[in-house]
Formats: sequence, C-alpha cells, structure tokens
Amino acid sequence: MSDPRRAVPALGRLVTHPAVVAAVAEHGRAPVMAALRGVLEHARTAAASGTPVEGEDVLVAHALAAIEDRPTPQLTPVINATGVLLHTNLGRAPLSVDAVAALTAAAGTVDLEVDLDSGQRGGRDTPIRDTLVRLTGAGSAFAVNNGAAALVLALSALAGPGGVAVSRGELVEIGGSFRIPDMVRSAGTQLVDVGTTNRTHIADYRAALAAGASAILRVHPSNFRMEGFVHRPTTAELAEVAAAAGVPLIDDLGSGLLRAHPTAADEPVVAEAIAAGASVVVFSGDKLLGGPQAGIIAGDAELVERCRRAPLARALRLDKLRLAALAATLTAYERDARTELPVWAMAEADVAVLRRRAEAVVAGCSARGGDADIEVVALDAVLGGGSTPGATLPSVGVALAVGTAADELARALRTGTPSVVPRIVEERVVLDLRSVPPAADAQLITAVGAVLEALPPADRGQLTDRGEPSGHGDTAPTCHEGDPARARDSV
Ligand SMILES: *Cc1c(COP(=O)(O)O)cnc(C)c1O
Repeated sequence: MSDPRRAVPALGRLVTHPAVVAAVAEHGRAPVMAALRGVLEHARTAAASGTPVEGEDVLVAHALAAIEDRPTPQLTPVINATGVLLHTNLGRAPLSVDAVAALTAAAGTVDLEVDLDSGQRGGRDTPIRDTLVRLTGAGSAFAVNNGAAALVLALSALAGPGGVAVSRGELVEIGGSFRIPDMVRSAGTQLVDVGTTNRTHIADYRAALAAGASAILRVHPSNFRMEGFVHRPTTAELAEVAAAAGVPLIDDLGSGLLRAHPTAADEPVVAEAIAAGASVVVFSGDKLLGGPQAGIIAGDAELVERCRRAPLARALRLDKLRLAALAATLTAYERDARTELPVWAMAEADVAVLRRRAEAVVAGCSARGGDADIEVVALDAVLGGGSTPGATLPSVGVALAVGTAADELARALRTGTPSVVPRIVEERVVLDLRSVPPAADAQLITAVGAVLEALPPADRGQLTDRGEPSGHGDTAPTCHEGDPARARDSV
C-alpha cells in the first residue's frame, strides 16, 4: 500500500485555491503560506496514523481560520476599569487632548533641529528644557527614553570612578526588572551600599565618601513603605554632605510630581528636591507628570549638560512624537491647568459625579443585559505607577454578578469590543469608574451590554437568587490582593 501521507495535497496545489488567492491579497503571501504549511504538516502527521485526509476546501478553511486567530500587530485600545489610574500594563498616563494633537502634528515633518528664523541648526529639545527650567527651578533639564534611562545616564555621566553610595534601605526593586543594584551596575559604576535596611544615617554616607565614593544616590522607594524603627537623612542633609565632599547628589524621585497635591502627599515634589540641594533629580514622564513615556534629568546646569553630551545620551534620546507630547503636557502646568491631563482629572473627579456615571452605566447595561445583576458599589481606587503606596481614592463603580465565574466574565470583557479591563473583588467583576474617562462611558455601556446579551439567560440573576441585599455600595469591597488586573505592586 502506498504511503497514506501522499493523499495530502501539495502546497503548490492549494495556492491556486480562490480563497487562498483572496487571503494572500488581504494578508500578504508569507503569513498565508506559513498557515498552509502548518495545516499540511498536521494533515500529514494525522494521515500517517490512519486518519483520513480532509478535502482541500476544509484544509484551506483551517489555514484561513489560523490566520484570523493571529494576534494583531497593533496595540488594542482598552477601557481601563481597574481603578488603577496609572496602570503600567495598560500604558500608564493617557495623554491630554493637547498632547495627542501635538504628537499627531509632529508625525509629519517638523522643525525638530532647525531654527526657522535663522535657518541654522537648532536645539532638539530647547522648548522642553526652557519649560522644565521654569517649572522646577532647575538650571537645566534633559529628557530621555524613560525614568530608568534617565537614571542610568545620570549615573554613568556623573558618578565618577569611586562608585555611588546608596542606602541599603533604598536598594529597591520597583517592577518590570527595575532593580537599583542592576541599574547601578549597568551604568558602569560601582555600588557602595551604606547603612542598614531600616536605618541609614548621615554618618554612614560621610564614611562612604571618606572611603572614596564619588557620588550619592537617593532613591524614592515608590511602591513600598517602611514603618517603625526607620531613619533616612533628608535631601538637604545629604546635599550638604555631598557638597562638602565635592560629589554630586543624584535623587531618583520616581513619579515626577511637578506640583504638590493632597492625593500624593507622600510623593516628593520635583522643585522641592532641587531646592533642597539635589545636584540632579530624575523622574518619569508618564507617571504623576501625566505625559508620554519619558525620563527627565533636571538640576545643576553643568551636570545636566554633561549628561546631554555623553555618548549614551544619543542612544537614549526622545523622538519627535514624544518631545511634542511632552511639551504639550508641560504647558498645562504653566497654564495652571493640570486637570487637562487625564490622570489629574481622574484623581480629582468628584465622588458624586462618579456615582451618577455609575448609575447611568447600570441603567444602560440593565437595558441590554435583561435580568443580569448589576449594581452600583463604593470602591477604593489608587493612583498607581508606583506612587503613594497604601493610599486610596474613594471611588464608585459597577459590580456585575452572573452565573459564569468572575474570571470568565472578566475575560469576555477584556476580549470584547471595545476591550474593557475590569478588576475582580470578592468573586464579582467590578468596573471602577474613576479610571474610566467620562467620554468612554457610552462605549463602556455598549461593550458590557454586548457581553451580557451574549450570556445564556441561566447565567443571569445570581444576586437576586442569593437574596443578597443590594446595599448600593455602602460597604466598600476593597479586596485587591491577588488580582492580576490590579498589578498595584509592580511599576
Ligand atoms: C518608576 C520608577 C523608575 C523607572 O521609571 P520608568 O519611567 O518606568 O523607566 C525609576 N525609579 C523610581 C524611583 C521609580 O519609581
């Protein structure tokens, strides 16, 4: 008997199939061929073990289905209903209307490095530098790819040969493989750890400098907090010791709070750290600053220029799109219009307004979702982005209970149109409205309504069946542990 695998058609036969020709026109030749090869390989293996070979139409249909199932190369826009305003896994700060307009305008050709008046070569980031100088009181400023890049550049340009003194209490991991000892090493400098985990004194730094350390690094611990028998010197105390030894004090502030705010009372304000004597500060552009991903080095003009001139700066510099978005974001601060930035509009949203929006979502979804159990609940939101650990913002949202397991309902919402990322609180799917831009409420209702409509009727009505009181959220479900959508511990 002949080899059963010979019954599987050759690739060359299938490429003339009309559905394949159409798919090549739509998706390109390479992915269609790869899918066909995969299907034919599978069919040959199956044939060898005695399975009858399917017809050409069926084999082609399998290949086309595999192409449709491919993850799309584009990023999928999502509605962030997690209650984490700056969610690193969801792209941190949403941009302001002005910032989006600026980056769209910059997509064409722009005066990135030319002075239009003189026709001479111009500074790439002069507008941003001047704005940051005005906003922070720094002598100069320079923006690079992200906070990690700003720290590595500052350390490599400024730390000197003797290594950098860092408190053992600040050798932190912030998330996404950002660990201070690794950053120090990758900057080509040496870590001189001083003090202990809970207490580091000014004398510890003095001793390290006397032994040859040539810089001090202070790190904002960001997403964790130590309490009890703890001590760390103030920025001013460190600045004095650094100045006496003639070495720079580099202060990694993390979140980039440009103006004090009661919601972020424990976060360092950029201008205050500079005024307290930090030689340079570094901070992110897409955390509390509310702009695009970026890392900013600001401080002493001569030291910032040293960073700007370092060869590494060229490898870490910002592109025109983010320079444009960052400049537009900074002008909101100059106009005292911080709530034009979505993260601050969300942080300051009034609870009564959130409650009215939640009621509208419940009404809209109930109309689409038949007898599904939907109710308004009080929640705790967080700023996120590694800022203000432990601090919460009062919030209001919508809880959904259906027969389907909460994680399955959450998956249906994430993969719906548009995608909605909820969080799970006490076995219920919860949509926190503080992290949803008000303009997205209508889309949220459409997406949730569509998911509820698709549920079998038996999966609805669980809350009523259990006879639970609908307290309309006066008890706040605040269990955030173990919720992957929340991801509050990693930045
Ligand atoms: C977030 C953070 C960083 C890293 O910033 P990215 O912009 O994410 O690269 C560095 N240091 C501190 C203290 C941070 O909080």
